[in-house]
Amino acid sequence: MLFPKRTRQISAAIGIILCLFSLVSLGYFSIYRQEFSQSVIFIIFESNAAEASEYIAQYFVWWMIPAAFIYIAGACFLWRRIRPLRLSRRSAWSLVALIMLVLFVYPNYRQLRHLEFSTAVAAEIIEKRMEPAVPWQIIFGYTQYRKQLAGMRTLLDQNNTIPPLDKLKDTNAGLPATLVLVIGESTNRQHMSLYGYARATTPRLDALRKELAVFTQVVAPRPYTIETLQQVLTFADQENPDLYLTRPSLMNMMKQAGYKTFWITNQQTMTKRNTMLTNFSQQMDEQIYLNNSRAQNSREYDSNVFVPFNKILLNDPAERKFIVVHLLGTHMKYDYRYPPEYEVFKNRIGLPDWVTDDQVPVINSYDNAVLFNDFVVSSLIGAMASSQVNGFLVYFSDHGEDVFDSPGHAILGRNESKPTPPMYTVPFIVWSSEKWRATHPHNFAGQLGRRYGTSHFIHTWADLAGISFDGFDPGKSLVGKDFKERPLLVGDPGSQKMLIDLRTLMPDKQ
Ligand SMILES: [Zn+2]
Repeated sequence: MLFPKRTRQISAAIGIILCLFSLVSLGYFSIYRQEFSQSVIFIIFESNAAEASEYIAQYFVWWMIPAAFIYIAGACFLWRRIRPLRLSRRSAWSLVALIMLVLFVYPNYRQLRHLEFSTAVAAEIIEKRMEPAVPWQIIFGYTQYRKQLAGMRTLLDQNNTIPPLDKLKDTNAGLPATLVLVIGESTNRQHMSLYGYARATTPRLDALRKELAVFTQVVAPRPYTIETLQQVLTFADQENPDLYLTRPSLMNMMKQAGYKTFWITNQQTMTKRNTMLTNFSQQMDEQIYLNNSRAQNSREYDSNVFVPFNKILLNDPAERKFIVVHLLGTHMKYDYRYPPEYEVFKNRIGLPDWVTDDQVPVINSYDNAVLFNDFVVSSLIGAMASSQVNGFLVYFSDHGEDVFDSPGHAILGRNESKPTPPMYTVPFIVWSSEKWRATHPHNFAGQLGRRYGTSHFIHTWADLAGISFDGFDPGKSLVGKDFKERPLLVGDPGSQKMLIDLRTLMPDKQ
């Protein structure tokens, strides 16, 4: 519009850039069926050249070459047909101004209307809108990767300066053992038949029930993944939220005890929110990142974890292994969490009367996600059982989710400023292998109803693993004989006075 005489040259320059960059994303998409994202860049830099070429060789198919040529030919054909848009100088400039308004001002309309404009927020909003398109996909992907990497490195460096646990003792020292921690996502126990839900959403765990210790009164400290795991996997808790900065993490502890440590995750890797999680995973010896999607709403089923899990279980020569499996569980959007064959709950059958017609599909998709999660967790237990390792597996969800469950039946999701019990009540189960049970007889029966917050989980884990050290508090172990019930504090620990004891919101049996 502005330079009609240069139409050809300008469109050629833009076209070459778009074509080259989109070829990269197109190639990535045809191999992985995923959008290109900063996580991909992270994975590329994390893996060595041999691994990378192995991956490409595994997925490369001959038709990709002619497909790329056809793609380029299409672009050339379109370019040859391009004609200048002949407008008067004035209309051309007005049109340019209008386009600028739509692209850059309109997205910030909310900000401008409330008269609180911040360039940082504006830049972020625009970046978010540009991100899915080439060449920004790769350019922003790279800058975000650099930013998040720097953030993660700072956290890791900080972790490296923390002195190890004092006087660590391990009653199983030197013995072969495989200890597995499966962290679920957004699964509220009220929707599991294992916990009495009317629909059979956990048939496989129900069948395993005799082998499981099913704890019925465990809650998460906070309703968000990062915030909750920052306490669950460290010594930080609601009263001392910053201890993760000065005391070793669960991952550090297991390494110190001589375990080879593995982190398998089906959660997104490099997103702005996940820097803390990636830092946790990097504290381990090996990491397997299975989800490089840019969007959270993408189909990455948790069954992704089976192959690497079995490989570590069966093929890794280490005698002592500690494996963390981080699932996507039943995270919103629920229908993305299970394959079509798990779409079992399709109508009102089994739902209480208060459910309104427009709530039915949401609850159904949540229950289907719980059903698939049951398949995933029970399969991990099954893999451990058939490998005949000596060890145990603990499964709990990072936090719950209110799926119209709390009184009033109008709340969907999680909100720390308006807490309801379903946002915090989580499943918590322990399974031990035959060999482990033979050498570690433990009667959980009298402990299953203990009211417990997962913010003290590190003490429970240490207790189960037979590890003690200076600072180990047996009163904070869910499975300890000296267990002491404490308030189940929930809320943002940034304002201590606002913390509430969830027990005040919970009826005795929930
Ligand atoms: Zn979560």
